[in-house]
Amino acid sequence: MTITAHAIPILTYHSIHVDGMDYASNDHIGLAEDLELIHALGWQVIGLNKLVQALIGDDWTALPQRSVAITLDDGSWFDWYDLPHPSFGMQRSMVNILRDFQQRHGAAAQPQLQATSFVIGSATARDALDKSCMIGLDWWRDDWWQQAHAEGLLQIANHSWDHRHSALPTELRYSPDADYGNFEQLEDAQECDWQIGQTQVYLQQLLGVSPSPVFAYPYGHVPDFVADDYLPEFGANMGLQAAVSTEPAMVTADSNRWRLPRYVFRRDWSSVDGLRRLLAVDV
Ligand SMILES: [Zn+2]
Repeated sequence: MTITAHAIPILTYHSIHVDGMDYASNDHIGLAEDLELIHALGWQVIGLNKLVQALIGDDWTALPQRSVAITLDDGSWFDWYDLPHPSFGMQRSMVNILRDFQQRHGAAAQPQLQATSFVIGSATARDALDKSCMIGLDWWRDDWWQQAHAEGLLQIANHSWDHRHSALPTELRYSPDADYGNFEQLEDAQECDWQIGQTQVYLQQLLGVSPSPVFAYPYGHVPDFVADDYLPEFGANMGLQAAVSTEPAMVTADSNRWRLPRYVFRRDWSSVDGLRRLLAVDV
């Protein structure tokens, strides 16, 4: 068996996905158990930034052969605070799951342990989505982003201004005519500035330093205009160097940096064995 190239999976979890208290129904439990498997199988968690730097710096083979990156989408309080879910009880936050792992195994076990948290910029949009799609307890605020990013275990990154979410009332949208409920139809440079550019500026101000240089397409939808024209032309000026979709595949040295694939928990694997099979894929 010949391994011809490094193939690195990026794994995605949503801390707001709490539908029960077992692996298959709870992304917190999923992350905790998956970290144990990743470690036991000899894989090394690396920061998404590090993956991107290696990819664009032509230094791909310098990464450990068995590297995996972890991302969290949508950025609610469940990423940062332990919270009492009204239906399913206390939930360990994603960052505390990473800390628990370090406590159990020592910081040297996974020296580059890190996850990237893709957040929605607009506070008004988060507030509206909290009431319509989450629990309505005001648990989608941005008070934790600066500390998280500075400490480094969670890196804060851009997941658009308002996710182009269908649940947002018309008056909060970019325009009454914008086709919300998807990100695919985005082909207007001004709306891109609004969705992506102003989020970068907002994150830069809030964090006091640059956010992660990676953008995550809402819904994983990759508009050709954004990936082929807008980001290649304007991304660098905004501090962006790559973007991630949710196409289920490994990242390789040949991957297009504006279309990096990601696996999504509970869509692409929903058991520890499922992750074991996913990690066993040869390229
Ligand atoms: Zn999302």
